[in-house]
Amino acid sequence: MDCLFCKIVAGEIPARKLYEDDQVFAFHDVNPQAPVHFLVIPKKHIRTLTDLDEGDKPLLGHIVHTAQRLASELGCDEGFRVAMNCNALGGQTVFHIHMHVLGQRQMHWPPG
Ligand code: C5P
Repeated sequence: MDCLFCKIVAGEIPARKLYEDDQVFAFHDVNPQAPVHFLVIPKKHIRTLTDLDEGDKPLLGHIVHTAQRLASELGCDEGFRVAMNCNALGGQTVFHIHMHVLGQRQMHWPPG
């Protein structure tokens, strides 16, 4: 499958890995938008959020929990942002779902 993030999971494209288990993979974003900016992705290929099904609920919980735990380990307990962009209008550019985690700077609302 021609998916950038599947290739990162497979080790075919390099990434600065933060964490990996049987279900998820986390790595520093190559183009960070904050002093801390990493992505948590499922190892399973899911194209976008509108493709989720009932069976994916535990996996999404695991993604959120991993994001929170790594944010804490990276010193973001004062605050951080998580974001998941869905489809082109939502700003998604890589079509393998991913949770952005940004921290160590003041966030603003609304995002662009
Ligand atoms: O939400 P969206 O799809 O726009 O985000 C994709 C993210 O993947 C970007 O923040 C981009 O910097 C990141 N990326 C990466 N490593 C790559 C390619 C993209 O961290 N090799």
